[in-house]
Amino acid sequence: MPNLSEPLGLFGGTFDPVHFGHLRLAEESIAHLGLGEVRWIPAGQPPHRGTPEVTAVQRLAMVQRAIAGNARFSVDPAEVEAAAPSYTVQTLQRLRKEMGLERPLVLLVGADAFAGLSTWFQWRDLFALAHIAVSHRPGFPVEIASLPDELAAEFAQRRFDDARGLRQAASGGIVTFAMTQLAISATQIRKLLANGLSARYLLPDSVLDYIDSHHLYKNH
Ligand code: ATP
Repeated sequence: MPNLSEPLGLFGGTFDPVHFGHLRLAEESIAHLGLGEVRWIPAGQPPHRGTPEVTAVQRLAMVQRAIAGNARFSVDPAEVEAAAPSYTVQTLQRLRKEMGLERPLVLLVGADAFAGLSTWFQWRDLFALAHIAVSHRPGFPVEIASLPDELAAEFAQRRFDDARGLRQAASGGIVTFAMTQLAISATQIRKLLANGLSARYLLPDSVLDYIDSHHLYKNH
């Protein structure tokens, strides 16, 4: 049975495909932030991006393979199964209904995703629903000076240094954490595969096997 007072990590992404940068972020967030578990939430049909010939169901299947065997990881298929694209704020509202108002929820984002947060639908509402934990990512500084003004203001006000603070409220804080720096991106993997080059050791073999057997990422 999960311990309902432990902060729950929520890790959304396109995962096109999932790779070791994602896996280390999720794994290291558990220890750094004292999370009970991490729920992975692959995006459904992202409005502005994605690889048309790789379906959301296939991206979900790759995440399921990647996290298999890790008892602290689970996957939430709701965004993939939804008919329309889901916004993060809507997903958090759904999870709040499921979890109640007490349990700390922690939205995990890389530094690049965080820098774009103020473009997300109803982004200010996110803080009433979850904390945000920002992991360092090569090439993307986590500095107030590099953020848009309105996000920098929220960051300055909500930031706290000690991850134990995540247990003191159910939502509303921003914490940063340093993870093993892995300059891996899904874009790089897609390019390698499209050029017939090896992507081995950038992502799990189980995911590469799936990619091979479904002939994914060949034509772009
Ligand atoms: P793409 O290259 O297609 O943009 P991506 O590799 O950035 O994809 P996403 O699915 O867009 O992967 O990322 C999901 C989340 O994981 C985001 O919050 C992103 O910042 C984070 N992330 C992705 N790769 C890394 C990495 N190497 N190190 C730290 N965080 C990462």
